[in-house]
Amino acid sequence: MRMDTVIIGGGLSGLTCGIALAKRGQRVAIVASGQSTLMFNGGSMELLGSIGGKTVTSPLEAIATLPQSHPYSKIGAGNIAALAASAKELLADAGINMEGNTSANHWRITPMGVAKPAWLTLSDHLRIDNLDNLPAKRVALMCIRGFFDEPNGMLAQGLRDLGFEVKAIEFTTDDITTLRRSPSEMRASSLAKHLGSNNALQRVADQINALAGDADIVLLPSVLGQNDDNDFQSLQAMARKPLRLVATLPPAVAGMRMQTQLRHYFKMLGGNYLMGDTAVSGAFDGDRLTSITTAKLGDMPLKADQFVLATGSFISRGLVADYERVYEPVLGLDVDADADREQWTRFNILEPQAYMGYGVATDGNLRCSKQGTTIQNLHAIGSVLSGHDAVKMGDGTGVSMLTALAAAQSILA
Ligand SMILES: Cc1cc2nc3c(=O)[nH]c(=O)nc-3n(C[C@H](O)[C@H](O)[C@H](O)COP(=O)(O)OP(=O)(O)OC[C@H]3O[C@@H](n4cnc5c(N)ncnc54)[C@H](O)[C@@H]3O)c2cc1C
Repeated sequence: MRMDTVIIGGGLSGLTCGIALAKRGQRVAIVASGQSTLMFNGGSMELLGSIGGKTVTSPLEAIATLPQSHPYSKIGAGNIAALAASAKELLADAGINMEGNTSANHWRITPMGVAKPAWLTLSDHLRIDNLDNLPAKRVALMCIRGFFDEPNGMLAQGLRDLGFEVKAIEFTTDDITTLRRSPSEMRASSLAKHLGSNNALQRVADQINALAGDADIVLLPSVLGQNDDNDFQSLQAMARKPLRLVATLPPAVAGMRMQTQLRHYFKMLGGNYLMGDTAVSGAFDGDRLTSITTAKLGDMPLKADQFVLATGSFISRGLVADYERVYEPVLGLDVDADADREQWTRFNILEPQAYMGYGVATDGNLRCSKQGTTIQNLHAIGSVLSGHDAVKMGDGTGVSMLTALAAAQSILA
């Protein structure tokens, strides 16, 4: 099978790059072995939330101060605004409606009720532009009886600490009560499936209308819409108060919905998404990668002019650590990581951990190297890249989308 570009990894970075290339008429295949880290995503994208432990309010300004090793510096701090605008447009084209901008972070609310800086948040989720000027005063926090994935007490307290007057209201409906007979059904994804009918939504709306009292805004756990935001819109039309969703613990419906919408859009553009397959090795000819072999295609290697590595970090097995070394398992690429195992972690888990910044080594054009030789037709994107710590810096999704778009531009140039 011959493609223009083959992408290894079908998470946010792989799909963003695949869409950008397919839109320009390329024949693209994505090899995608399993769940991506979008399943942890509660409905927001982050560009840059923190530097050196200090909260970032103006991400574009802060990005200009990052070291040269950071992926944003490699793709050029001056290009970030334009790439971010393209990313937002790409999301909207896929049906993912998000709000926010690059000049000022807003705040998203975690399931624990903590406000974190964010770049974009789904339009149907709670977003706070200014903590000194909350979007509402009285909040009705609708808590589904028996629901596992929302720590309601902590969420309510967190919202109170931010200055909201919160009334936590437990509710259920006859059909949700029936679902509770099987405890596994009380997870966010199962509820989203169940609530995907107008009858079920009407019963939830009846509860909201009966119980929300004098609230200015009603908050519901993010358990609506496996494939799009139509269920939210239907519920909003039935409810007499403005509604917003709040993130749940993972697996998060919002992130899974984004993954599904991006995958559908990629396929609609003619892309080939090889779901459930794993790239296992590659064949090189000098400084070029000529093909990759996958577990399912076996002796039919995938050939292409260009390749993109989008396999994620340790959690997705884009990087692997054994007792002696950190390595990239598919192509044996050069990795930026401390050779001394003692340096990988710090005992205090709250301190920055060095291993979080490890990743494949790339040149200024995001091209990978193998034993010191730059591989001319292989880019790396997303969280497999070295030089940033998504947890401490709050830049994971931004790095994924923007490096994906920069690599696509480089491939198309
Ligand atoms: C626990 C957690 C919570 C997070 N929460 C947030 C958040 O709230 N907000 C935010 O902005 N960011 C968050 N992030 C960061 C963000 O999710 C990631 O930075 C971003 O989505 C990474 O996308 P990616 O495509 O680079 O990698 P991944 O999402 O890791 O995707 C890589 C994909 O490649 C596949 N793959 C790996 N090896 C192979 C192979 N050999 N062959 C084929 N496929 C392969 C994997 O199965 C996976 O599907 C979080 C990350 C984690 C880990």
